[in-house]
Amino acid sequence: MTDILERARKHALDSGVGLAYDDLVEVLQIADEQIPSLLELAHDVRMKHCGPEVEVEGIISLKTGGCPEDCHFCSQSGQFTSPVRSVWLDIPQLVKAAQETAATGATEFCIVAAVRGPDDRLMNQMREGVKAIHDAVDINVAASLGMLTQGQVDELRAMGVHRYNHNLESARSYFSSVVTTHTWEERWETCEMVRASGMELCCGGLVGMGETLEQRAELAAQLAELKPHEVPLNFLNPRPGTPFGDQPIMEPGDALRTIAAFRLAMPTTILRYAGGRELTLGDLGTRDGLLGGINAVIVGNYLTTLGRDADEDLTLLAELKMPIKELAKTL
Ligand code: SF4
Repeated sequence: MTDILERARKHALDSGVGLAYDDLVEVLQIADEQIPSLLELAHDVRMKHCGPEVEVEGIISLKTGGCPEDCHFCSQSGQFTSPVRSVWLDIPQLVKAAQETAATGATEFCIVAAVRGPDDRLMNQMREGVKAIHDAVDINVAASLGMLTQGQVDELRAMGVHRYNHNLESARSYFSSVVTTHTWEERWETCEMVRASGMELCCGGLVGMGETLEQRAELAAQLAELKPHEVPLNFLNPRPGTPFGDQPIMEPGDALRTIAAFRLAMPTTILRYAGGRELTLGDLGTRDGLLGGINAVIVGNYLTTLGRDADEDLTLLAELKMPIKELAKTL
């Protein structure tokens, strides 16, 4: 049998074909001393199939906290005792945030709401907000509003929403240990409707929630099957008051193996560092990830926890000679 790195080179690097489940399990089990070679390979795959550009995105929470769902990692659930409480932004605040995001060079501005799915009030706010942003600033608007009906998918597309985020969160086989108020299949359905609508699909998940290595590989393979335009990869940041509040923080070696495995599963997809990277990988994590398969970052704050300062990330990209993807190329 050939060595896993050799197989990965042949499939993902030479042919641009993602690794299948069995190979991903092997990648996730690779010995510590092979991690640098694994990251180098994942970086080569990213450079060959995606290029050196890095996509920068800003994110704003239109409605924070008070969500009726019980995702065990999430401090915005109204079912736990975590300290995040329900807050709504108004349209001028949204526009201001979009302008500040565009000023960093970011091309995507994602409006997020902590809901099971949008109601009429939220859809109306989106209609008004997306128009006000498009009138004031040149930036792509993305949204993350939970599960959608076909009618809502069509409406969001008609409003000019360019990309929709809806994560699978976890492998199908582990999902019921993470969420009990909706099913993995319901999530999959929304993702399929979004992709079929012509909006770009952004779909990823979280690792470090107590899943096995096999389930991590399963999530990567399931995401690859869905063929999202972009995959945000989150590492659990255990939030006090949530059911996963006492989970241990993921080992840095495992986090790096996971980044590489996701890149090798999806050679041509935008792979974005989302939440938790500072905690899992420390200050060097951003550099290691960007040299190990990551090609997109979120600037500024995450939804409920502080991320890094935007300037630090932008300076790092300049140091690594990785240009920020320009708006014209993403339209
Ligand atoms: S992850 Fe989303 S759906 Fe789940 S509790 Fe948090 S805000 Fe609600």
